[in-house]
Amino acid sequence: MIAALAATLAPGGFEHHAEARDGGIFRDADRLHTRVIDGACIFLNRPGFAGGAGCALHLAAIDADESPLEWKPSVCWQLPIKVDWEQTADGTEVATVRRWTRHDWGAQGETMAWCCTEGTLAYVGDEPVVDTMGEALEQVVGTEVYVELRRRLAVE
Ligand code: SF4
Repeated sequence: MIAALAATLAPGGFEHHAEARDGGIFRDADRLHTRVIDGACIFLNRPGFAGGAGCALHLAAIDADESPLEWKPSVCWQLPIKVDWEQTADGTEVATVRRWTRHDWGAQGETMAWCCTEGTLAYVGDEPVVDTMGEALEQVVGTEVYVELRRRLAVE
């Protein structure tokens, strides 16, 4: 899916279009990881790029009036949402929505950048996450849990 969508990106909206054309977008034979160009994902348009900074797949989805969730790798739109599912003795399934932490990734987490949950720019938005990440939350936890989450947070 990602390869097919990448093939539709025009050079004007995809800074590393030439690298993708010449060497592909994956860095492993299993096609599980995107290539890294100059220290970042091949799809990341850098600040100052005329076609727009940010994820080229995300930008193309917006241009097409479609959801970025349909265009980007799922791990990209799910982070930093983490859901712990727990089966209780009475058969009820409990979903706890929280953020990913370094601890969740074991030793590898120590070297990760966590700008969305750590640092001065985390948790300072003007709008609640249940709104701004509503579509992603509903995809991850399901509509039933998402509706209950909104009810408990008393967000209209
Ligand atoms: S959101 Fe994902 S695909 Fe897009 S630039 Fe970032 S890592 Fe790459």
